[in-house]
Amino acid sequence: MSQFLNPIYQNMIPYTPGEQPQDRSYIKLNTNEAPYPPAPEVIAVLNEEQGKQLRLYSDPTARKLKEILAEDLMLGAENIFISNGSDEALNFAFMAFAAAGAAFADMTYGFYQVFADLYRIPVRIISLKSDLTMDWEAFAACDDTCVLANPNAPTGLALPLECIESILKANPNRLLIVDEAYIEFGGETAVPLIGQYKNLLVIRTFSKARALAGARLGYAAGNAELIQDLEMLKYATNPYNVNRLTMEMGCQAILAQDYYQEKIEELKQVRSETRNILMELGFYVPDSQANFLFAAHASHTGEELYKKLKERGILVRYFSGKRTENFIRITIGSKEEMKELTEILKQIL
Ligand SMILES: *Cc1c(COP(=O)(O)O)cnc(C)c1O
Repeated sequence: MSQFLNPIYQNMIPYTPGEQPQDRSYIKLNTNEAPYPPAPEVIAVLNEEQGKQLRLYSDPTARKLKEILAEDLMLGAENIFISNGSDEALNFAFMAFAAAGAAFADMTYGFYQVFADLYRIPVRIISLKSDLTMDWEAFAACDDTCVLANPNAPTGLALPLECIESILKANPNRLLIVDEAYIEFGGETAVPLIGQYKNLLVIRTFSKARALAGARLGYAAGNAELIQDLEMLKYATNPYNVNRLTMEMGCQAILAQDYYQEKIEELKQVRSETRNILMELGFYVPDSQANFLFAAHASHTGEELYKKLKERGILVRYFSGKRTENFIRITIGSKEEMKELTEILKQIL
């Protein structure tokens, strides 16, 4: 730490991203990246002509991408905020809307706690139920800004739309932020509720189902007034937050519906086959609606399995902490990668 660091950040614990090791090649099942490439139309954006255009700033209003998304989501362009990855939309949402307090689950996306620390937001932790589902009644009953991942990470479990709606109805003066990073892989989106509820903000990403983690693109959808608040913070920090190439790739990714639909269906098939094998091997595996499986074995800790898999060339993620230490989180890779994983797990067990 330098002598110049603002003292308010002295004890800041930042987010720890999943490892991206360069020492050897691994089967990477640790950061929920897609096993398939972006659609060909998306990759075709990376040409010489677009390269020459990089001398120009990107459109700070993101007009084209907003219009394409608006049509896809049956919303208006004024209902959409474009961000540099969905982490940026989450960052602005915590900055803007959670000053009095934020409520989120004990097992959920680790970045929520980091944003709460960054903005010195008081936190209410709501424990998942014993079956690892969200305690939506507890969210409905609290007055803090509620932040849910749906489907949740790292469990993969989805909350039915009626429960989301009950939280919204319970207190119209309390904002609910729904992080739908994995919604394309299962669960029901809350986007159709946006017209009806001014206290709903939905956050989505191109990193997972659209296979664009490296391009950094996300968005928030909600009532126009919420979106204006986010725009204000964007213009106060980084008006050109998304680069030209990414913005154009995002447009093409929304238009390439058929390509992605097919890839997502294949992934869901592999997810279900892998889950069955893991259960045969003695794992407890919640019924994930996301592109990963959260799996616990009675006789091995998550850390132990993580280490043994890593030695054998497969990266997964484990989480320390009482409720999560028996689990590993396994991203759904290609059919071949999952076959390799289950073979190696059989040897280890
Ligand atoms: C991956 C992920 C994100 C963020 O992804 P970006 O790459 O920043 O768009 C947000 N929320 C959850 C729950 C995630 O798993």
